[in-house]
Amino acid sequence: MRSVEEHQRIVAEHLPGGAPVALPLAEAEHLVLATDLVAKVALPVFDNSAMDGYAVRAVDVAGADEAPVTLPVTEDIPAGRTDIPTLAPHTAHRIMTGAPVPVGATGIVPVERTDGGVDNVQIRAATSEGRHIRRAGEDVPAGETVLRTGQRVTPPVVGLAAALGHDRLTVWPRPRVLVISTGTELVRPGTALAPGQIYESNAVMLAAAVRDAGAEVLALATVSDDVDEFAAVLDRYAGDTDLIVTSGGVSAGAYEVVKDAFGRDGGQGVQFVKVAMHPGMPQGIGRVGDTTIVTLPGNPVSAMVSFEVYIRPALRAAMGFTHPQRPRRQAILTEALSSPPGKRQFRRGIFDADTGTVITWGPPASHHLRYMASANCLLDIPAEVTDLAAGAAVQLWDLG
Ligand code: AMP
Ligand code: MG
Repeated sequence: MRSVEEHQRIVAEHLPGGAPVALPLAEAEHLVLATDLVAKVALPVFDNSAMDGYAVRAVDVAGADEAPVTLPVTEDIPAGRTDIPTLAPHTAHRIMTGAPVPVGATGIVPVERTDGGVDNVQIRAATSEGRHIRRAGEDVPAGETVLRTGQRVTPPVVGLAAALGHDRLTVWPRPRVLVISTGTELVRPGTALAPGQIYESNAVMLAAAVRDAGAEVLALATVSDDVDEFAAVLDRYAGDTDLIVTSGGVSAGAYEVVKDAFGRDGGQGVQFVKVAMHPGMPQGIGRVGDTTIVTLPGNPVSAMVSFEVYIRPALRAAMGFTHPQRPRRQAILTEALSSPPGKRQFRRGIFDADTGTVITWGPPASHHLRYMASANCLLDIPAEVTDLAAGAAVQLWDLG
């Protein structure tokens, strides 16, 4: 049997990142910078007032703390005024926050320290050289590198890029993923079930997981256990997609459509392997033409856990994330548990960050999607561990 780590490595190797793309800011959100970000302009762009008040020469109001000084107001400078006036000695300009500081002014007196006059103003406090003036370039000099390759595009990154005059960011692209679920028993939610049918849930779940990982869902398809129908969907999309993810049809029974389509011996581009993990032992990886295909088992918990273990980290590494894995934590198990020998087991769990403890959530079997849906972590139990006592330390993957 192949180890989990070996299969993770092989899946990741099959998913190299695409060439960097320059995307409009909104489309670059949640992606990763593929180049350094260089300031096109300085920040602040020009000397501007940090307060609503009056621009003055500090020397003209030097005694205002003791005796108020009255000055004529000769200009009004709202934010957005594009000419820069010159302040004559012994005058004041009314100025708003963010407005350009007039030539010759050396300080700002906040409006609260004045009578707020429009034609003349009574100044009741002194100011000093540079007081309440935000200098051009004091945050970012023009031409400076402000962010490095590998930086995640968070809301303030978008804000900074815009402030520096960039309307696009160069990022690693989102891989495009085709999700195919297989099974003649599957019908779309919202329609009636005949005896023996169940609602299709893996394709919608895996598509949501693809988007949650930051990648793009090219299309979803559900096919019956008919090799020709499955092959027709592959033909239709192959070439447009970076990754095909299938669920079902890879176990040991008859009517295993994914295995049958590629040849059970794996002769046709896809290797089918058993991985020493639970749930999710039957796995497959290969290529359809130039497109990578990962074939997941059909049981919903197996499919979801397999996505977490193999596909999510590979997608995120391809998108340039420096930490593509879910955050790992250590926690204290508050109950005893047993785990199958020779298999790395991923149990659903509820982690309590306040106490640093974790409990398992639901049975280990791979059809209890209900518990996966309300778990907040996966317990990662090493292959060689078969029993853990209450109070033991366990590693978990924080699902957020
Ligand atoms: P398979 O791997 O195709 O043998 O499927 C294993 C189990 O998972 C069976 O009980 C299937 O009915 C179920 N299953 C497979 N695919 C899906 C799906 N897309 N949605 C819900 N259940 C599924
Ligand atoms: Mg099936």
